[in-house]
Amino acid sequence: MTYVYAFEEGNKDLKDLLGGKGANLAEMTNLGLPVPPGFTITTEACRAYLRDKRLPDGLAEQIEARLTALEERIGRRLGDAADPLLVSVRSGAKFSMPGMMETVLNVGLNDESVEGLATHGGERFAWDSYRRLIQMFGATVCEVPAGYFGDALDKAKHHKGTKNDLDLDADDLRALVATYKKIFEEHTGRRFPQDPREQLHLAVRAVFDSWNADRAALYRRQERIPADLGTAVNVVAMVFGNLGPDSGTGVAFTRDPGTGAQGVYGDYLANAQGEDVVAGIRNTVPLQELESIDKASYDQLLGIMATLEEHYRDLCDIEFTIERGKLWMLQTRVGKRTAAAAFTIAAQLVDEGVIDLDEAIRRVTGAQLGQLMFPRFDLSGAHQELTRAVGASPGAAVGTVVFDAARAIELAGQGESVILVRRETNPDDLGGMIAAQGILTSRGGKTSHAAVVARGMGKTCVCGADELEIERGAFTVRGTRVAEGDTISIDGTTGRVFLGEVPVEPSSVVRYFEGTFEGEDPLVRAVDRLMRHADARRSLRVRSNADTGEDAARARRFGAEGIGLCRTEHMFLGDRRELVEKLILAEGPPAREAVLAALLPLQRADFVELFRAMDGLPVTVRLIDPPLHEFLPSLTDLAVRVAVAGERGEDAGREKELLSAVQRMHEQNPMLGLRGVRLGLVVPGLFAMQVRAIAEAAVEVARSGGSARPEIMVPLVGAVQELETVRAEAEKILADVIGDSGVEVLIGTMIEVPRAALTAGQIAEAAEFFSFGTNDLTQMGWGFSRDDVEGAFFWRYLELGIFGISPFESLDRDGVGRLVRIASEEGRAARPGLKLGVCGEHGGDPDSVHFFHEVGLDYVSCSPFRVPIARLEAGRAAI
Ligand code: PEP
Ligand code: MG
Repeated sequence: MTYVYAFEEGNKDLKDLLGGKGANLAEMTNLGLPVPPGFTITTEACRAYLRDKRLPDGLAEQIEARLTALEERIGRRLGDAADPLLVSVRSGAKFSMPGMMETVLNVGLNDESVEGLATHGGERFAWDSYRRLIQMFGATVCEVPAGYFGDALDKAKHHKGTKNDLDLDADDLRALVATYKKIFEEHTGRRFPQDPREQLHLAVRAVFDSWNADRAALYRRQERIPADLGTAVNVVAMVFGNLGPDSGTGVAFTRDPGTGAQGVYGDYLANAQGEDVVAGIRNTVPLQELESIDKASYDQLLGIMATLEEHYRDLCDIEFTIERGKLWMLQTRVGKRTAAAAFTIAAQLVDEGVIDLDEAIRRVTGAQLGQLMFPRFDLSGAHQELTRAVGASPGAAVGTVVFDAARAIELAGQGESVILVRRETNPDDLGGMIAAQGILTSRGGKTSHAAVVARGMGKTCVCGADELEIERGAFTVRGTRVAEGDTISIDGTTGRVFLGEVPVEPSSVVRYFEGTFEGEDPLVRAVDRLMRHADARRSLRVRSNADTGEDAARARRFGAEGIGLCRTEHMFLGDRRELVEKLILAEGPPAREAVLAALLPLQRADFVELFRAMDGLPVTVRLIDPPLHEFLPSLTDLAVRVAVAGERGEDAGREKELLSAVQRMHEQNPMLGLRGVRLGLVVPGLFAMQVRAIAEAAVEVARSGGSARPEIMVPLVGAVQELETVRAEAEKILADVIGDSGVEVLIGTMIEVPRAALTAGQIAEAAEFFSFGTNDLTQMGWGFSRDDVEGAFFWRYLELGIFGISPFESLDRDGVGRLVRIASEEGRAARPGLKLGVCGEHGGDPDSVHFFHEVGLDYVSCSPFRVPIARLEAGRAAI
């Protein structure tokens, strides 16, 4: 088995094996770009190591062979006493996980080779590099708490009377190395390893192990990256950006990752190493300034950027280092970008003839479209602007200021919206960043950790607000002090920060969908173009779940092609709740019939409104499906009221009656109790009233020149006999009401009880359509109470990797998905042409939409705001 590949042997399509970084280093090498030589250890080796808890057989020998070849090619030996080759050992998974895993630089330095390095790079540089190695190696490979090294460094600076690392001279750093070695020995019980090859092997193991570090696991869950991929390891000859003013390091984008505009974008930091830029520790200068610092390298870099964009046919981001005037490419990849840039760039590349429209919709996602539908700030009123900095990840976030990740998690857990304010963030802040509405930092640019991670999560972020002076529990800016607990508003598009709460307004993309957007906007144009293409490509229809005329009208503007679920129980809330309560508790036909007679006209009017809003399009009306307790007074409240009345000697006659009725009907598991079709079979006249109201409303709309296309849906069916009983009664009513009006009504069922899915062939005999209720199907398929489990224990399931995402959010393809597949196949076998849809929450989830396309459903139905997302994903699924 080959576990190690030289850069010359790989290419960009081998990301599964070589990780993203390794595959792209190989691609650049083969394009003839200046990449420092090196090799990549595969993800396969990592997986074997993590599985067997030891390096796989043959790996050590293969590393040795590659290293020897590298040494021969460069003409220097790893850790050589006179003129050492040094290498970096870097993680690189298939999907970028910025800063989540480990890197060790300067591997190969020891007590002898540091002297050799000094003769070539100078004493100070050599001892500083050695110090960095012991620190990084100690912390990442041997788990020495990083604080010990930090403290020793602070002490050395204090001793010197300075706060700046650069003031420490070679002697200070030599002394610091001695201290660091002592710290290392105290914590590990061994000397700092002097054998360069041992250093290398230990560093490789540490990178493998870092795949399972807590923060990496958390990031993967957040980004839905599978937990079992493993990381590759890149061993690369070191080049140095910190050898003086003619050296430096930077990052660049071939287009603006915020908007997609073409131009030169990036940051440069002279006399620094790569990690300094990404960590955002010192403020960088705009890339354009490199032209005056080192014109030859600048011109070469622009040429390489053009080559890369042409080659990858997409926006690329790049990390580079200049060592004494020589440019080196350290990394490239198809760059992360904001949602707006993803759409604009895709449309631009179509205009430029670089990609076609299929490729363009492949490059955008429903999740990104969702981000573009977030509201923006409405700045028409007066607002105090605190500062203006780098808009690093778009959105409008309002929240309470907090200064550390733990506090952000705590307050967010109490339901508060928080803005995490930090000098800079590091991977340990990840939990707080997830919990926060937005992130504000005082240092670092568009490529700082905070910016990269926030963009990846679609979270609002403003960076590099260097006017902010952050102290304990407060920051001061332009004379205003903002303390923890105060509210601020941050705009991740413009980088503006405001004191207090700024109101928000709908985004341009939402206004476009609403049909109220006016003017010219490249983003709106791009969205329009891509949505039209997705619509032309998709075979899945997209309907919306809506219970009111207003929701239905909005859904239609968003592109819904009908209603897939009207939950009629929602029509019985508010003042009508009492009527349903009376109906459920009614004793004897006269009382019941009186209530039904009162409900009929109300329901009819509801349906007329819906049919008119969806004129000409199908409207699925589900017969009432309340878990009973939602419509009855609370047992506890009633019992208390009766007891209090008793104490006071008052007459609680009616309440006592009610109490005994509620006690009689009380259920331990209401979700598995008297709901859905069961209620319809038990309460005479209830479904009949609804069917009549639907039919009368449809006839009324038809008579007034409209076109109503009702589909009556029976909930919670588990056996065909249930459906047959309801159907027989409904058909009589329909025949009676519809007469010769020309209205057509379908009768079908939800498939949301596992038994229904497994007997779908029988059920299809009595159903003209199925709609999968994947909420209940998940609840009953897993036996997870949908109202209780997510907050209670899903965190543990996610932690253990039992699933990567809640099955209530994204369909569990293997289990619940299999029920959907079985029911679809057996239903269609029994009744060819059976119409199939889904109306659970999964209908608007991008991954699930792809699954429903694969299974061959006719439509998905989701909430109005997710209709555009489902349209786009249905188009993407079809190409
Ligand atoms: C479902 O169960 O998926 C469904 C759509 O019905 P409800 O959410 O109303 O139970
Ligand atoms: Mg349901």
